[in-house]
Amino acid sequence: MLIKGHEVKGDIVDLETRCSHYHKEIDRIAIKFYCCQTYYPCHQCHENHGCRNPKVWPKEQFNQKAVLCGGCGYEMTIHEYLLCHSSCPNCSIPFNPGCKLHKHFYFEP
Ligand SMILES: [Zn+2]
Ligand SMILES: [Zn+2]
Ligand SMILES: [Zn+2]
Repeated sequence: MLIKGHEVKGDIVDLETRCSHYHKEIDRIAIKFYCCQTYYPCHQCHENHGCRNPKVWPKEQFNQKAVLCGGCGYEMTIHEYLLCHSSCPNCSIPFNPGCKLHKHFYFEP
């Protein structure tokens, strides 16, 4: 599915990247998986539609753009995301702070 000009795969339910697993108002980011180099709304979406062999981003690549704001379509680097205090650095729309609890699914701890 094309979201703000970016291809996002998974069980997507709307144009702000919400999916059938995470669909609260503040659930509006997609994360690019290092293994697939493809955006998914969450790790369960990757499990259902991805490569079945998830790999996390290594620390030395945290300068890569790998998080997509579903509010404005801004792609931020992993560093930017980890420092953004759960709101978009571009449009300031709030993200789910709970996502950070899952960051080990996506980024090297
Ligand atoms: Zn993958
Ligand atoms: Zn999902
Ligand atoms: Zn934004």
